[in-house]
Amino acid sequence: MVLKAPNDDPLKDYYTPNHDYLGDCDQNCKTKWWLFTPYNVEETKYWLFRMIALPLGASLIFIFIYQIGFGSINNPIFEWITYISLFIGNIFFTCYWRELARAEYFKITLDDGLIEEGVTPDITFSNDTEAYTYKLNEISEKYKIGFVGDIMMMRKHELEADEKVKDFFSDAKIIVANLEGIVRDCGSTFKTQAHKPEILTQLGKLLNCNTQWLLCLGNNHSIDFGNKEFHTSLHKIRKSPNTFVFGRNDVSNTYYENPAIPSIYYNLTTATQWSNQHNWDCLTLLEDRGSNNGIRAHHHDAHFHILYPHWGFENERYVRTRFQLDARALLTGVRQEYPNGLPALFNPDPTQCWDLIIGHHPHVRQPIMKVPAKTARNVSFNRLVVFSTGNFTSGVHFLRAKKHLFGTSIICGIGPLTADTNQWAIGNVSWQRTVNVRTKPGGCKTKTIERDEGDYPSFNRNSFWYGVIIIVGILIFRILERFFF
Ligand SMILES: [Zn+2]
Repeated sequence: MVLKAPNDDPLKDYYTPNHDYLGDCDQNCKTKWWLFTPYNVEETKYWLFRMIALPLGASLIFIFIYQIGFGSINNPIFEWITYISLFIGNIFFTCYWRELARAEYFKITLDDGLIEEGVTPDITFSNDTEAYTYKLNEISEKYKIGFVGDIMMMRKHELEADEKVKDFFSDAKIIVANLEGIVRDCGSTFKTQAHKPEILTQLGKLLNCNTQWLLCLGNNHSIDFGNKEFHTSLHKIRKSPNTFVFGRNDVSNTYYENPAIPSIYYNLTTATQWSNQHNWDCLTLLEDRGSNNGIRAHHHDAHFHILYPHWGFENERYVRTRFQLDARALLTGVRQEYPNGLPALFNPDPTQCWDLIIGHHPHVRQPIMKVPAKTARNVSFNRLVVFSTGNFTSGVHFLRAKKHLFGTSIICGIGPLTADTNQWAIGNVSWQRTVNVRTKPGGCKTKTIERDEGDYPSFNRNSFWYGVIIIVGILIFRILERFFF
């Protein structure tokens, strides 16, 4: 299997003469330290609403109720401690209920095309790899490609994978992963993502020795240290054995060609919707600006088209309606009805459909959905979207541990459809849920990627109980205060 750059050079060779590629991407080191969110104004307003206005509103209601019942506290210091505690308690409480309600509102059902173990019929389970498989189409399989979740900073942990995870990928020659941030000798700083160079050697020995990694360097943290360090990082990665890199805006897409089946190409394209630096000089923005710009410019002639977008919203285990509709538009080329004036991100084009979408950035698992489509000869078949593969590696072990340790690994078998051999499609899709477990072999701090068997609710139960404990604690304090102070 040969990975190629858009100009048809082997991907490894492409970067050598283009070492000093500038294009639209200059060599500056500038960053905008004051930007605290990768998102646009609309999403930032929503974040402020849910983190400040919503708990504040709930707190005011609580304050109103208990002041009617208990009256004011005589000591102003206690009174303010009570108000602040109530606000913090309500952040936990409203976060819990909000995620519960939104998961229900944005639910993807069987009728929508959901593929989920325990819900969708005809899913098989393999004891060998402890993975699930669903037959999407009848094909003559020619090739398998693997995907894992985001590779997040390991924070001084060694990285291991257990045998079930290794076995799962034993057939996949290439595994695609989003490397969140860049690779940098000095690592990260506050609010930035940068891996120490050790991550490349850790990945190299993680699975089987023949594994080839294709790392995506097009994400919201790629420019955390400016354009120049982005280039430096790209060259560190491409020099690493068995590791390929794409995602710079002159290599937004890469082709695979299987020498055993010459002239059959698979096209894999990435683009990022977000950048913490609000700078896309070196990256391709996930947008549709016609056939010369945006992702349509990277939908080149190939037998199978994979879109690998850095999109969506962090920590949401459901998929907002707009992304569900965007995915349908991209996979079918059919215009969708967007409710409530939601903006469509893409102009669907039936001549430029994508066959598979694998999303990254939310850092939590999101649903897998099949989408019915028609071949040029009007034969029905299914395409696939995995909205978010979660995290494959993560060094966190306390804050965000309930969310950021979990991922979905995917393998898709690809080949011509039996009923219409001109159309290439996915046959079997297999997936394995993974979790990063902190282990200590040999005294080192180590994270081991293991198969995950736990439940994965859309809400955080701890958040509910933290809210209850704080609010009930305040009520108990007020009752005691009436009797003893
Ligand atoms: Zn991201």
